[in-house]
Amino acid sequence: MKIDIVTIFPKMVEAALAEGVVARAIERGILDVGVHDLRDHTTDRHRVVDDVPFGGGPGMVLKPEPLFRAVEHVQQSRGPADTVILTSPDGRRFAHADAVRLSALGHIVVLCGRYEGVDERVRERLATEEISIGDYVVSGGELPALVIVDAVARLVPGVVGDEASVAGDSFARGLLDFPQFTRPAEFRGMQVPAVLLSGHHAEIERWRRRQALARTFDRRPDLLADANLPPEDDAILQELLTKREKGDL
Ligand code: SAH
Repeated sequence: MKIDIVTIFPKMVEAALAEGVVARAIERGILDVGVHDLRDHTTDRHRVVDDVPFGGGPGMVLKPEPLFRAVEHVQQSRGPADTVILTSPDGRRFAHADAVRLSALGHIVVLCGRYEGVDERVRERLATEEISIGDYVVSGGELPALVIVDAVARLVPGVVGDEASVAGDSFARGLLDFPQFTRPAEFRGMQVPAVLLSGHHAEIERWRRRQALARTFDRRPDLLADANLPPEDDAILQELLTKREKGDL
């Protein structure tokens, strides 16, 4: 999978891509990530990427020409993109389903805004979609781009060593993850649940399923509506609901 990121801070993006799961996937050739300095696509001596907003007001706006030229350069040198994502707080809120969809594409371009954002014509003609990482504003599109790239990359086969680990992650199966424990079995008086030490795999599976359901029920009941759960889970949820109604939960 090819990913190209356009930014005024390439070093910031490269630093994050140099460690961890994504770095290993790049080393192994599963991901091919290009980081492009927006300033390389200016035509003036001072390599200016921003300008004052028409109509006045505070801050600066990223000019359209360098962004258009950068994407044209990427498509000429690296092939056509399946999508050109603009990171933007007013974009569609990024969720697991988007990560799944993007992970099936061959070539993604991500544009990082800065300052007050980008000239509107970038949204109209250059970006094919706009993605927000949540209802807050960060100073630039670099961290959002890295969040998107990391979440997408984890779903590309071979990137995370153990596929089962990704399949069990929160959201992947419509539920939050179950609680995890590691050694020591007792820590400062806190015990690991006995079932996890029992070696009974079927019981451990049942306990984990129940914990994942209970946690989702408590913290994110909205997820349960779309979760498409097997009938045995319905029984557990019914039991949790009864307990809550009785005040036992
Ligand atoms: N004035 C803009 C915010 C600009 S922040 C507004 O109020 O909408 C500068 C850049 O940071 C944006 O162009 C975008 O690329 C990035 N950015 C900030 N917050 C973001 C978020 N929640 N999701 C995705 N990108 C974001």
